[in-house]
Amino acid sequence: MRRCSSQNLCLKFLIAILPLLSQRVAAEPSPPIRLAVDASRAPQKILHARMNFPVKPGPLTLVYPKWIPGEHQPNGPIMQVTGLTFTSGGKVIPWRRDLVDMFAFHLDVPAGVTALGADLDCLLSAPAAGYSSGASATAVLDVLSWNQVLLYPAGSPAREVMFLPSLKLPAGWKFGTALPIANASGEAIEFQPVALNTLVDSPVIAGKYFRSIQLTPGQNPAHFMDIAADSAAALEMPPDMELHFRNLVAETGALFGTRHYRDYHFLLTLSDDVAHFGLEHHESSDDRTWERSLIDDTERIYFAGLLPHEMVHSWNGKFRRPADLATPDYQQPMKDDLLWVYEGLTEYLGDVLTTRSGLQTHAQGRENLAHLAAYYANQPGRQWRPLQDTADAAVFLYDARDDWSSWRRGTDFYDEGELLWLDVDATMRRLTDDRKSIDDFCKIFHGGPGGEPALKTYTFDDVVSTLISLAPFDWSGFLRARLDGLAPNTPIEAIENSGWKLVYTEQENEAESVRGAMKRWLDLSYSLGLVVEEDGSVVDVVHGSPAYAAGLGPGMKVTAVNGKQFDEVSLKLAVQAAATSTKPIQLLTANGARFQDFSIDYHGGLRFPHLERDESKKDYLREILATQVK
Ligand SMILES: [Zn+2]
Repeated sequence: MRRCSSQNLCLKFLIAILPLLSQRVAAEPSPPIRLAVDASRAPQKILHARMNFPVKPGPLTLVYPKWIPGEHQPNGPIMQVTGLTFTSGGKVIPWRRDLVDMFAFHLDVPAGVTALGADLDCLLSAPAAGYSSGASATAVLDVLSWNQVLLYPAGSPAREVMFLPSLKLPAGWKFGTALPIANASGEAIEFQPVALNTLVDSPVIAGKYFRSIQLTPGQNPAHFMDIAADSAAALEMPPDMELHFRNLVAETGALFGTRHYRDYHFLLTLSDDVAHFGLEHHESSDDRTWERSLIDDTERIYFAGLLPHEMVHSWNGKFRRPADLATPDYQQPMKDDLLWVYEGLTEYLGDVLTTRSGLQTHAQGRENLAHLAAYYANQPGRQWRPLQDTADAAVFLYDARDDWSSWRRGTDFYDEGELLWLDVDATMRRLTDDRKSIDDFCKIFHGGPGGEPALKTYTFDDVVSTLISLAPFDWSGFLRARLDGLAPNTPIEAIENSGWKLVYTEQENEAESVRGAMKRWLDLSYSLGLVVEEDGSVVDVVHGSPAYAAGLGPGMKVTAVNGKQFDEVSLKLAVQAAATSTKPIQLLTANGARFQDFSIDYHGGLRFPHLERDESKKDYLREILATQVK
């Protein structure tokens, strides 16, 4: 898109072309590709798809979606595609994979042929890890991501390729989706013709144990929570939680002012046997979490921030998207350098909305911030890898393991990005004598006519100019110092500028305790510098910590503490006892087939992070987390 020199001109230009940018309007009508997906064997972990392409004789290249929007990686599950067969008039047409692009298939359409059939299966037998290519089906539910079961002509912009999709489900299953339905009878569903970009943006959730809740009855747009679970009991959301989700919808309205969808569906999967993540879409979100997340107190707290984060993406990520992530199709590479806005601002707004809607208390919101601030305050990897590089390298950091994470760094543009945006928010409130905030930024940056999905791309300069329009300041310098600098103070500054201090006490941090209960580990990052599973397996060692100095590393297994068999309690007691002793803590540890003794010379006691109010400063954090809808 052409760059504009004046802001006013740019705004007028954008208003003029917004209808053209609409996701629903294809620039040129083309005959639809029929796509019939048979999910009746989903419990067996296999999907079948049958496509019918209108074609012309001659060379034809069909491609399988490679770069999946929202996943920021070239991770379309091509290795799960099997049974690929092309036919015309009952005859098989041979194909050859491209030797450079593994996602492209070349074939030669014979003379006289105008319709090409294509069959493929997508295997769902993936591990419960990763993103939408991970496990997505159980015996009683399935999440269908359409990109897994289709091909499309190479070089075709996704908004111009029309599909006519249909879906067959196992007997007795119900479903939910934002995709407009033409006809549904029993388990057979026919959808309205739709452009490829909308199809890929509109997954379907289905299952035996299924419930659809209208969160905003009688209102336009409508908001639905479509839930598929591995048991009937898991669907029984208590009334207070339902109220919090209604609040979430109201609070997003108060924050952004405009909604860029016709209606919105939370597609919530509750299962211990699928991959756990959230994936954003314009008019829905694919939210997958533990089976008892609506009914178990610990799982409820762990899950609280997922739906707020994914819903924020409808504005920040889908409607407003970095220009380098708004590729015309799924084959062209995406560039991830602005993920500190796409994901970092979403993480910040999502966590703010989690408290504003009541899904977590103010105290829980502060414990979460203390956990994040402490993590980065003690992360030596910030001395060599700037925050910007965690976004630039996101393509492989998404797949990086947990071990040595403090030294390698991971996808820190989420959590350190959250602290960066807290710093922006607190700084803007201070600069404007508390008259402007990120809430005002959202109304300008994410505003527009609304009513249906649209795309408005942005650059770094667009972010900066919107901030300047609210509070004249060197925002470019502010952001670049924190993005490009090594070991800047941002995480601590963010907390301190919002009126609080990071402190450490012997009392466990609630966010870390909940995470520890879910992951079955003990996090002693800020004392020994050790995270250890309940069986003694070392998950991680903080680089430069006392455990590091003693020689411990991830993958080892602690078997004894000061001569006694390891358990989490004995390790905590040993750390407490060492605080009043000069003797080191002795750990007997298996390192592969060998046993080794390690002496940790640490006497600082147990240390867990919390926020403490700084009465010398204004409490911006309380204002930020406060409910806006009265
Ligand atoms: Zn996200």
